[in-house]
Amino acid sequence: LFSSVEMAPRDPILGLNEQFAADTNPHKVNLGVGVYFDDNGKLPLLQCVQAAEKAMMDKPAARGYLPIDGIAAYDNAVKGLVFGADSEPVTSGRVATVQAIGGTGGLKIGADFLKKVSPSATVLISDPSWENHRALFTNAGFTVDTYAYYDAATRGVNFDGMLASLNAAAPGTIVVLHACCHNPTGYDITPAQWDQVIAAVKAKGLTPFLDMAYQGFGHGIAEDGAVIQKFVAAGLNFFVSTSFSKSFSLYGERVGALSVLCADKEEAGRVLSQLKIVIRTNYSNPPTHGGAVVAAVLNNPELRALWEKELGEMRVRIKAMRQKLVDGLKAAGVQQDMSFITTQIGMFSYSGLSKDQMVRLRSEFGVYGTDTGRMCVAALNSKNIDYVCQAIAKVM
Ligand code: PMP
Repeated sequence: LFSSVEMAPRDPILGLNEQFAADTNPHKVNLGVGVYFDDNGKLPLLQCVQAAEKAMMDKPAARGYLPIDGIAAYDNAVKGLVFGADSEPVTSGRVATVQAIGGTGGLKIGADFLKKVSPSATVLISDPSWENHRALFTNAGFTVDTYAYYDAATRGVNFDGMLASLNAAAPGTIVVLHACCHNPTGYDITPAQWDQVIAAVKAKGLTPFLDMAYQGFGHGIAEDGAVIQKFVAAGLNFFVSTSFSKSFSLYGERVGALSVLCADKEEAGRVLSQLKIVIRTNYSNPPTHGGAVVAAVLNNPELRALWEKELGEMRVRIKAMRQKLVDGLKAAGVQQDMSFITTQIGMFSYSGLSKDQMVRLRSEFGVYGTDTGRMCVAALNSKNIDYVCQAIAKVM
């Protein structure tokens, strides 16, 4: 049965992790994977999460099956976070939200649902994009193409190219957009550019799918969510996947969601019923713990304030590391202007380093980033920054 099964290629990021684990260099630094570490190089367990878990331990609850669409209090909290609790889409009941297994799960539920309602549509992802976007939509049965995004020459977004790609797309094309903190480049478009993207999406009748994996890591929770308000104001119907992996440092709990903004409450009811079929036939219903923790935090004013504070600290630390990287590279003798690192946003920096330079960084210095030159700035800290700057300066 399995004699003709081919060996699948290794996941590029997880492959890097294995290589990193086997590296005996005592100075090694892993900037490959998209995970936030604190200044001691440790994965944080947020205080708000600990407080919610303690309250749950004090009042232990049995674990029955959750509803197919997840914990109602969780779904409502997601709606509030994404659209605003008192916003018209939420109060009118035209948002269908389901709890999902991470942001990846939200994307997958959306992709499988879209394959049913729009089977012949093409999917456009940014060039480049998070690796899994292409694989995920391809596996859902779509042809996946790209829209122009990164411009290596100007170190920024090729916005004219992006608009041209959208304007050339056939009506009904599904466009996957990074709501904030673009992965892998770290370059977001400006609010005024979003207006132009929205106008093109509307004029061409495209289907927007916003991937919001980093809400709160860019400029703030509300600031990063502002793009959603723009899509609402334009009168569009669209998809939003949410991930709490990074913003709650709950990577392994797999907490995410999918929200679909529909025309009205009745339509949202029909869409929700179909999302539930997708879930039921894949994994039946979501797990309890992570969703319960996030719901407990978001729905309790004190814990929510604590979460916003802790998320703000992560955001500020990343920004400080960007500045330290720029200063450190200069001090280490790099002639080139590296200030673009501070105009990038979120966890990642497209460093502009070549594949050869990235390979040298790994083999000679134990500094691990992806071959594309992507580095996770959120894994830099006051102890490893000087070493990383020296290493980069040497390969440059
Ligand atoms: N979308 C993007 C752009 C991401 O960077 C990630 C996580 N790396 C995800 C989705 C998936 O998030 P999760 O880990 O919650 O599935």
